[in-house]
Amino acid sequence: MKIQKIEHIGIAVKDLKKSIRFYEEVLGVQCYKMEEVEDQQVTTAFFKIGDTKIELLESTSPEGPIAKFIEKRGEGIHHIAYAVDDLPGALREAESKGLRLIDREPREGAENFRIAFLHPKSTNGVLTELCEKPG
Ligand code: ZN
Repeated sequence: MKIQKIEHIGIAVKDLKKSIRFYEEVLGVQCYKMEEVEDQQVTTAFFKIGDTKIELLESTSPEGPIAKFIEKRGEGIHHIAYAVDDLPGALREAESKGLRLIDREPREGAENFRIAFLHPKSTNGVLTELCEKPG
């Protein structure tokens, strides 16, 4: 597959508002977008850092994947997202090379990206998102 760049790093947080303050007041970067992604039971907040982004993730439900992640491992880095130019092709390639996929088909992510996750058991414990920019 062809990786273009690290599109973003996803960070699981308990309190989005409080976490945004660190990025804005200490790092001096502005949150340019907040968006709820129902499919993943999260509210996200985005920051541009050079050519990549930080995506903060707060759970909208105690049963959501981010709530469960924090319960098990605490706040912190949740996933790394790589931009690819052909997501369905990248998924087929990953599967053909024996990787375990969480999503076999692309689904809708934040910012209208098409996204899919590879299972951390296949990727050194790092939940890995592949994403393709809309249009
Ligand atoms: Zn992400």
